[in-house]
Amino acid sequence: MSTVKIAFFDTKPYDKTFFAGENKQFGFDIKYFDLKLSVDTVALCNEFDVVCAFVNDRLQQNVLEHLYNNNIKLIAMRCAGYNNIDLAAAYKKIHVVRVPEYSPFAVAEHAVALMLTLNRKTHKAFYRTRDNNFNINGLMGFDMHGKTVGIIGTGRIGRIMISIMNGFNMNILAYDLHPDKQLETRFQVTYTDLDTLYARSDIISLHCPLTRETRHLVNPASIGKMKPGVMIINTSRGGLVDTKALLAALKSGMIGSAGLDVYEEESEYFFEDFSYSIISDDTLARLLTFSNVLITSHQGFFTGEALHNIAHTTLQNIKDYFADTYLKNEICYKCDSDECMKEKQGKCF
Ligand code: NAD
Repeated sequence: MSTVKIAFFDTKPYDKTFFAGENKQFGFDIKYFDLKLSVDTVALCNEFDVVCAFVNDRLQQNVLEHLYNNNIKLIAMRCAGYNNIDLAAAYKKIHVVRVPEYSPFAVAEHAVALMLTLNRKTHKAFYRTRDNNFNINGLMGFDMHGKTVGIIGTGRIGRIMISIMNGFNMNILAYDLHPDKQLETRFQVTYTDLDTLYARSDIISLHCPLTRETRHLVNPASIGKMKPGVMIINTSRGGLVDTKALLAALKSGMIGSAGLDVYEEESEYFFEDFSYSIISDDTLARLLTFSNVLITSHQGFFTGEALHNIAHTTLQNIKDYFADTYLKNEICYKCDSDECMKEKQGKCF
């Protein structure tokens, strides 16, 4: 077969560095586009074999139809989450692969960074001491030791969170649709129902995927069940939190602080420089006014180790597809059902 041609969307300089380096051993023909993939840019994909996309590219039905009609064979997501693809529309048309694991440590450690910053207010201390202000009024935090942390979603990242929180000697409550009971024997963690987790946790950290069931998990009703002054950490997906409800609870003090690496409407802003522009999203602009809210721009994954693994697994996924070997990282909307053909054929259809 001739050299595989890949259309690479939403490219940043660090993507190019890691993918170009790793591609030396794969030899694909990669064209890097700065633009995000959407209905407006999908025509750029004509003449390619593979589309490589990221978290804020929009792969809805009309985009997928265009890709299918233009003979795109594979969508290689260079991320773990896939809530931005209409998998039902892709099924039996285009195979979709992802990078299920690249560094759960990167994301969990970032969640801990948000937690500690909000607790000990090092973001404020940094500016004070640079201004020769060595006053510590207002910077008081709390001992993590002995406090209760609630972990929602105990998969790859949630599990690492549990091991780190265990190191702090915290009481750990966990909720997952599929509890991993072995965690209870390894760490000081107890699986419980959501209402108990809400009622008892001083800090709640979200590590479940965005699905129909988890959309707006943090909403007026669930906030009402939480401890007043609770800290919310979201490094998972913005849609898990009803941002308007979060704003109201921050104003009333029901939520004491929030560390957000993701935001419901992040696709327009995150990863881009708006320092010379106006933020027209009033919710985001209001959130940025709170000193007890720490927003980072979806950088949980952003370590050298993770980027290296993302580049390698993405290119290996593409190689596996064209070599017709078992596609272990394929995703489809039937993968969890008996109808999925992957076990029999190595690919979902
Ligand atoms: P994972 O699939 O290993 O674990 C997810 C866990 O959530 C599973 O144990 C699953 O059973 C559980 N779950 C599913 N639905 C649930 C529900 N309704 N309620 C409670 N638990 C539920 O995924 P992971 O690798 O740990 O990643 C978790 C999330 O982190 C991803 O979905 C992704 O959205 C996000 N993520 C963010 C970044 C970042 O840079 N901020 C990077 C990677 C992943």
